[in-house]
Amino acid sequence: MPTTALKGTPVVGGIAYGPALWPGERPVYSPSGSADVPEGERDAEANRFTEAAAAVAGRLRERASHSSGVAAEVLSATAGLAEDRGWVGAAKKRIAKGVRAPAAAIAATEEFAALFTKLGGLMAERVTDLNDVRDRVVAELLGVPEPGVPVPDTPSILVADDLAPADTAGLDPSLVTALVTRLGGPTSHTAIIARQLGIPCVVAVSELADVAAGTTILVDGTTGVIEIEPDAEQARSRVEESRRIAQAAAAWSGPGRTADGHSVSILANVADGTSARAATDHPVEGVGLFRTELAFLDRADEPSVDEQAALYREVIDAFDGHKVVIRTLDAGSDKPLKFVSQEHEPNPAMGVRGNRIASVHPEIRTHQLDAIARAAENASVTPWVMAPMIAGAGEAEEFAAEVRGRGLVAGVMIEIPAAAVLAPAILSKVDFVSIGTNDLTQYTMAADRMSAELAAFTDPWQPAVLNLVANVARAGKDLGKPVGVCGEAAADPLLACVLVGLGVTSLSSAPVAAAAVGARLSQTTSDQCREAAEAALAAEDPEAARTAAAAILL
Ligand code: PEP
Ligand code: MG
Repeated sequence: MPTTALKGTPVVGGIAYGPALWPGERPVYSPSGSADVPEGERDAEANRFTEAAAAVAGRLRERASHSSGVAAEVLSATAGLAEDRGWVGAAKKRIAKGVRAPAAAIAATEEFAALFTKLGGLMAERVTDLNDVRDRVVAELLGVPEPGVPVPDTPSILVADDLAPADTAGLDPSLVTALVTRLGGPTSHTAIIARQLGIPCVVAVSELADVAAGTTILVDGTTGVIEIEPDAEQARSRVEESRRIAQAAAAWSGPGRTADGHSVSILANVADGTSARAATDHPVEGVGLFRTELAFLDRADEPSVDEQAALYREVIDAFDGHKVVIRTLDAGSDKPLKFVSQEHEPNPAMGVRGNRIASVHPEIRTHQLDAIARAAENASVTPWVMAPMIAGAGEAEEFAAEVRGRGLVAGVMIEIPAAAVLAPAILSKVDFVSIGTNDLTQYTMAADRMSAELAAFTDPWQPAVLNLVANVARAGKDLGKPVGVCGEAAADPLLACVLVGLGVTSLSSAPVAAAAVGARLSQTTSDQCREAAEAALAAEDPEAARTAAAAILL
């Protein structure tokens, strides 16, 4: 046992060992409140501001030029903010009145942040980026180190309260070998970046502030344990072992099956044609969850049937000849769509969301199913179509009739505890189900999946959730119908084995997780999966479930 260890929520598996690296402090500047730049110096102060903003933009662009994909886009967009004419103009207007450049940058940011917040949606999300630009420009003006992640000399573990998009975009995984944050949940920005980089990640480590910069730590992204100053030799051998596991993952190319040959489809979660095409670079056998709502988050009006059909066809074509599971719009709660606007709801996660929208706007679901049917015309494999947020057999039956009437394969998501309890009745109405463990955990534990404080509750290893999954899988086996899992639980190699042991027939998650899941499964027998599942089901809490399963599987 380590002498000192902290515990957080594991997000991306793997082991990393190295010194803790904290991002640079945000600059502290208290404006004097008075406009005290003498008139004759105001032009020079304005130039100082313009040069600082240009220097910050230049550095971000330089980083963008060495990055690719999302990272390059995030860095270029942030650079664009530093040179935004409106923002620069608002600051210079204040400087012309005698306000010092750092105070002018802060005031201009406040003005624009208020505007962005009022506009809502994607614009509101840019407030974090704008504040980040402000801090970088103020630091430049004050001559203090730029906030954000310094480039370390030796491979290090990045520890932070939380990470801004520009902090994490373009990180070099050979120098930043793991991410650990005090805040954030399994679906936070930090978690997404860690998955993309393929480095271990633990979030919601409440006592992280006690870890001083430079302290050597060992991060276990599978258990969520952070060991402080562990035995160096043991730590290195654990890193070596995890590297071997990573190499096995890199060498694994599918198809999904256990060591004794039991087939389990390994599938990808995608959001549009682009992400579906990118997913084909990973060893996945198809799409287990196409989150259609993500393609329309910025749309004010409902896309036409033609436009929708073209988009859905892109995903079908990306996986030509393979299984594609399309989910109807899961609008509402954390994914509001403007054209499916709901009256203000006091508790949107439990409101008119997912398939329930059809009771208010039946035409939106009709148009979408028409579009999916059109996209499926002449496709070599008929797509499967499922509805989110189904609570009972009546809703499942009604949805299935709509889907089958269009010649498609009908299923529903199991993400409300009521649906998991009533799985036999629901499964009797549809051709398949897919368990959304993200929402199933949120609703079973009555804990908001977005809350950092509640991350321990929203751990997918919660035995209560596993017992519900077991109930659904049993019903699937009894009726001979497929039961998939398409929540983040399917991305955790150990938990994936437990899910298979419970009787789950396919696993769908972020495509980057596929190789590690498939490789682990290929080294595990069905008996081991079943034994680990029984041990996890009998555990009292998530940690005990994980430990009990690991003792059998590792
Ligand atoms: C889930 O809830 O597990 C799921 C897959 O759906 P989403 O994450 O899109 O809500
Ligand atoms: Mg869900």
